[in-house]
Amino acid sequence: MQESNLLLATARVKLEESLLAKGLRRSSERFAILDEVYSRNDHFDAEELYQAMHQKAYPVSRATVYNTLDVLIDCGLVRRHHFGEEDNSKSRYEKSLGRQQHAHMVCTVCHRVKEFCDPRLHLIKTNVSTTLQFQVESHSLVFYGQCTDDTCETRPSHE
Ligand SMILES: [Zn+2]
Ligand SMILES: [Zn+2]
Repeated sequence: MQESNLLLATARVKLEESLLAKGLRRSSERFAILDEVYSRNDHFDAEELYQAMHQKAYPVSRATVYNTLDVLIDCGLVRRHHFGEEDNSKSRYEKSLGRQQHAHMVCTVCHRVKEFCDPRLHLIKTNVSTTLQFQVESHSLVFYGQCTDDTCETRPSHE
């Protein structure tokens, strides 16, 4: 089995268990949303997910998209981000199963998101946890600026 298929199979089991535990309906719509989320590698918002479901001829309501995202976050299958350069109402999401902890860079012009991993972040976490006697459960680090992709509007020149 391919790694991505294995990941999706594991995610489906987790969702199934979570829906059962919460007494929620294990509808095919929720699993179709999970499939879509795990087929993506980006940081999408709820509207993009809603549109993608419609493009794949699997129309679900916005309410189903939102409440399924909540379930997926609850059971650790999706992470929600609030990238502060945007208005507060807009959350972005990404799949989280099988993904390494990573930090983000957000372009404030084209809103592209890049990811990076740096083992020094783990060192900082360990050090400050010890120094301040604090048990860190999670963290988020976001750098804002402008990317240099060719298609980014008014990109900074390299001259
Ligand atoms: Zn950009
Ligand atoms: Zn990410």
